[in-house]
Amino acid sequence: IVWTKQDGWQHAEVLPYGPIPMDPASSVLHYGQEIFEGMKAYRRADGSIVAFRPDENAKRLNDSARRLALPEIPVDLFVEAVRELIAADAAWVPSGADQSLYLRPFMIADENFLGVRAAERARFMVIASPAGPYFKGGVKPVSIWLSQEYARAGRGGTGAAKCGGNYAASLLPQNEAAENGCQQVLFTDSATDDTIDELGGMNLFLVRADGTLLTPELNGNILAGITRKSLIQLAKDRGLAVEERALTVSEWRAGVADGSITEAFACGTAAVITPIGQLKSPDFSIDFGEAAPGPITLSLREELTGIQFGALDDKHGWLEVMVEA
Ligand code: PMP
Repeated sequence: IVWTKQDGWQHAEVLPYGPIPMDPASSVLHYGQEIFEGMKAYRRADGSIVAFRPDENAKRLNDSARRLALPEIPVDLFVEAVRELIAADAAWVPSGADQSLYLRPFMIADENFLGVRAAERARFMVIASPAGPYFKGGVKPVSIWLSQEYARAGRGGTGAAKCGGNYAASLLPQNEAAENGCQQVLFTDSATDDTIDELGGMNLFLVRADGTLLTPELNGNILAGITRKSLIQLAKDRGLAVEERALTVSEWRAGVADGSITEAFACGTAAVITPIGQLKSPDFSIDFGEAAPGPITLSLREELTGIQFGALDDKHGWLEVMVEA
């Protein structure tokens, strides 16, 4: 779907997958006006296909659009575009446990103009790919690397937006994590502060011995994860307390040492919930040992995946039917 400042959103079409024409002066190539979403659709036992909270992705894309001076897209148009792509690709939507269709809606500025100003032309596209289980052979705790040299976001920056540039900035620390045997990188507020922001592609939760969930507040630096929001709701439904506030690595380490923090997990669309087994940095390493994966981590994971795959009642109406049975 194409947007121009003059005519708004027009020309919606479903095309076979393939290269797209682009002018070398297209603004996205020079100033990085690009935003995206990641979401999943699931095939239910009756053959119908559902998407998980697509309106939330539409709203978050619009939050990102505002920050990147891109046009907002009506929520209905976003959901309709996703629906049409899923319908066209229905044969590719796998069935079975842990199978899904991963959807990548994204928007780029593509005015052919080299001046530094917000583009007056943009394109919104959606591509899709079948996705298998994130964990093959059971849920395994991951090791995370505490990045000390690099931050993911600065105050007033684009940390809360889902824009390509944020991910470009996180690739080097992600490589550093991999070189140190870790699967994910943990970012703090800045290289000097130990306030926890989030992981490279997931939000973080700590669990206290009394069952209270702790997670960094939406401080403008972190992505407002839809999995995060859904888990907060499920925890509250169970009567668990949830504290959204500033958390520090020091508090985490002290809590593990004195037994008051018993579990830690990361969450996001791709893996739903990933237990954290180890935290490493150049100065120290904490092995959470037997505590991972913990019982609250596993039961929240089971509940959310149960809702997504249709085994449990969708009590909050999070699933939207995209293709009827
Ligand atoms: N933080 C970052 C930086 C991410 O890339 C993601 C994945 N979209 C998340 C958090 C989790 O968000 P969600 O639960 O909406 O997938």
